[in-house]
Amino acid sequence: MKDYSTYSFWLETAGELLTPRPSFMRSTEVDVAILGGGYSGLWTAYYLLRANPRLRVAMVEKEIVGFGASGRNGGWCSSKFPVTPGMLSHRFGREAARSLMLAMCATVDEVARVCEEKGIDAHFRKGGMLSLARGAHQLPMLRAAFDSYEALGLKDHARLLSAEEAAERVRVTNVHGALFTPHNASLHPGRLVRGLARAVERRGGVIYEQTEVTSFEGGSTPRLLTPAGELRAKVALVLAGEAYLTRLKKLHRALMPVYSLIALTEPLSGEQWSQIGWQNGESISSNRYTVDYLTKTADGRILFGSRGTPYLFGSKITDEQDRHAPTHARIQRAVIEWFPMLAGIKFTHFWGGPVGMPRDWMPTASFDPETRIATARGYTGQGVSTTNLAGRVLADLIMGKNSELVTLPLAQRRSPNWEREPLRWLAMRYAQKAFLRIDEAAENGRSRPLDAPLAEFLGKR
Ligand SMILES: Cc1cc2nc3c(=O)[nH]c(=O)nc-3n(C[C@H](O)[C@H](O)[C@H](O)COP(=O)(O)OP(=O)(O)OC[C@H]3O[C@@H](n4cnc5c(N)ncnc54)[C@H](O)[C@@H]3O)c2cc1C
Repeated sequence: MKDYSTYSFWLETAGELLTPRPSFMRSTEVDVAILGGGYSGLWTAYYLLRANPRLRVAMVEKEIVGFGASGRNGGWCSSKFPVTPGMLSHRFGREAARSLMLAMCATVDEVARVCEEKGIDAHFRKGGMLSLARGAHQLPMLRAAFDSYEALGLKDHARLLSAEEAAERVRVTNVHGALFTPHNASLHPGRLVRGLARAVERRGGVIYEQTEVTSFEGGSTPRLLTPAGELRAKVALVLAGEAYLTRLKKLHRALMPVYSLIALTEPLSGEQWSQIGWQNGESISSNRYTVDYLTKTADGRILFGSRGTPYLFGSKITDEQDRHAPTHARIQRAVIEWFPMLAGIKFTHFWGGPVGMPRDWMPTASFDPETRIATARGYTGQGVSTTNLAGRVLADLIMGKNSELVTLPLAQRRSPNWEREPLRWLAMRYAQKAFLRIDEAAENGRSRPLDAPLAEFLGKR
């Protein structure tokens, strides 16, 4: 059997044994059948059972609850949505964009509320978020982000900071300014996902682990197919497998699996923290195309995440991609570049996992009453809070509730499929390399690569 604690620091320190729950053994019927034991599936189950405790809800998970991104992420529970406020406005109109941004802010508090109510000790800490301009070239991105909040009438949700003001919060090299957004928390992802599963079980939900769904069918009695039989659903089937959904033939091109990787330091000393500051525990990022995100853990470590594992032909997902040595080495160098006072610090954990990227970057929470198939997916690395919102949207859609939630832009939509191979592989590999070249050129004072506009067009969101 796999040692699931080796998949992330969060699973290792989830505070409970990771012994798998019983597998699915024989065909049966429930009201709602859910594929996937991550946040999406669990939040959906949680809100369905809260609305109607008599519903029979069962979930099928290939490994254990939290095996996917939900047990491995960077711990940002953020109002940040995968599509920028400016692009949301452009695609869906100002009012819809504004409603979604406000719903995301409220979602951060909703996650805290459930943790409190259900006694989930997920180390929730609402310290806000600091987006840093590391290098003068990143300042225009901060300005543009601030302007898009302002255009939505959400000026109070973002504040531009000078380099000096940013340094009062955290001392990082080469910072030229920052954007502070208050609606952001950090948390322990493993404790959240495992605690949520227990909360769902206490409400009567049943979770089967170590059972792979090999296919699914919609219709008057939709069903999940497994080697041990079928789980039929009278009301709805929920597909909540995020990046791993691409392994199912029918959803192979619905998402692109993109890897996010993390390196974690040992706990810092009091002296090191007093040099760095970061007393409020903000979630921190810069504005690199290759993404970097930092979290201060409850036990005083620095978690640093970035992207870089090359996309594999055919959207392959393998354990080996979790540990891409060149990317983990680059992350370790970055920690010292950001915080030179940490030279010599030990890194205790390295891991990673796939996020699900839709063709238009826009997450989906939809339910088709004809096929009775529901799905929540496509968070592109911004799913810790967004899954909660998606779970509430799905619960309302499945229950036929005409709430404000079901009018949000992520509800009842569908992203286009990705291109077929080899086009997908060619475009993705090109974009991955181009983004790294753009970042490195800017950081080393070289002129922008000539193909930067093309790469930016491909990554537009
Ligand atoms: C390294 C990393 C860092 C991240 N950092 C952040 C962050 O800081 N903030 C943020 O907001 N987001 C972050 N994300 C993204 C976030 O974690 C995800 O968006 C979110 O967890 C998605 O939840 P989910 O339930 O939809 O999918 P998952 O957590 O991936 O769960 C899907 C589950 O479905 C199961 N499954 C899939 N297919 C099948 C099948 N056929 N049969 C049975 N079971 C199946 C899988 O085993 C898995 O457990 C990060 C992701 C990664 C990988």
